[in-house]
Amino acid sequence: MASNKTILMLPGDGIGPEACNQVRRIIDWMAKRRSVSFDVKEGLVGGACYDVHKEAVTDETMADAMSADAVLFGAVGGPQYDNVERHARPEAGLLRLRKDMDLFANLRPAVTFDALLDASTLKPEVISGLDIMIVRELTSGVYFGEPRGMQTYEGVERCVDTQAYTRAEIERVTAVAFDLARKRGKKVHSSEKSNVMETGLFWKNIVTEMHQSGDYDDIELHHILADNCAMQLVKNPKQFDVIVTDNLFGDLLSDAAAMATGSLGMLPSASLGGIDENGNRKALYEPVHGSAPDIAGKDLANPSATMLSFAMLLRYSFDLQEDANMIEQAIQNAMTSGKRTGDIMADGCEQVGCSGFGDAVLAELDKLAA
Ligand code: NAD
Repeated sequence: MASNKTILMLPGDGIGPEACNQVRRIIDWMAKRRSVSFDVKEGLVGGACYDVHKEAVTDETMADAMSADAVLFGAVGGPQYDNVERHARPEAGLLRLRKDMDLFANLRPAVTFDALLDASTLKPEVISGLDIMIVRELTSGVYFGEPRGMQTYEGVERCVDTQAYTRAEIERVTAVAFDLARKRGKKVHSSEKSNVMETGLFWKNIVTEMHQSGDYDDIELHHILADNCAMQLVKNPKQFDVIVTDNLFGDLLSDAAAMATGSLGMLPSASLGGIDENGNRKALYEPVHGSAPDIAGKDLANPSATMLSFAMLLRYSFDLQEDANMIEQAIQNAMTSGKRTGDIMADGCEQVGCSGFGDAVLAELDKLAA
């Protein structure tokens, strides 16, 4: 047996548990066919936790998250929690995990699957073979800067948000981007608005300094203004490998890039924290989509985004590149074989449910492992 790393699984609400069940099946398959086993612990988060404990995540679950080697998160939320007090709302569970684990680097890949080229609004030749990684700073910037809020002075109402970054915050997220690029296409675009924002110029100067330090000579660095980056993502996305950017621009650019791939049901993400004294990095992996209450419990969800998040977990937390590749390939093969969930259904394909797509992925994994 290669490992007894610990995974904390937090399925949450809505389609979260259905999608996480399909990952459970892959984990069982890996133990049997790949001799790779994990200690998987499960916990409550979001509305599922509120129903039992009247809070969105408990201290016990937080302790489990802090000690796990990686966390796999499903989704949280649902209309039945709309009137719950803000601090106990389902989203508060995810926000606490991100904050307490200090998950400062959000990784959002935009990868196209050949079987889904027609699902994007962009031309197939523009997106075929696309493989971008957007690294968004997640714990600082204008979403957190102080002062913020209403200020009334001499009868004039005014509202303020503050964009602020420290050198350390920029350096740590840039280091993640350079390190990732080293394992990929060795190219980083750093995106800001250094032409009009002081923080943008600060960001650009620090990224340049880091690149010139000699530690990243093998990485090609480009600076690109965020507005131009948005335009280039739609015009010629394949010019990018890794894009590193701040919280606000990352929010926008990652959604724009995601549209190249067609469906919300296909988008994974990872959020990484710092490296501790034992050399381990805190990390949480989750699909980009929410709890999809409209289809929850009906076996209609596409589990791909959660499965792909698990593949990222294997790749970035456990360095199991081959296993991660196999899962991604099996999802691609299942779609190519014509099995599709409703969200990515196309003419000539067979519509299957969440568990049916799980069956198809396991069958493809069997073929790949044969
Ligand atoms: P959503 O992502 O849940 O759903 C948007 C649409 O996409 C829905 O029609 C849904 O059926 C569809 N969809 C999403 N994922 C799918 C999948 N895997 N397979 C097939 N179809 C899929 O967004 P929403 O409807 O705006 O939000 C619903 C709830 O989820 C809200 O309570 C919201 O706060 C919460 N939410 C949670 C997260 C999270 O847990 N990280 C993220 C976004 C929204």
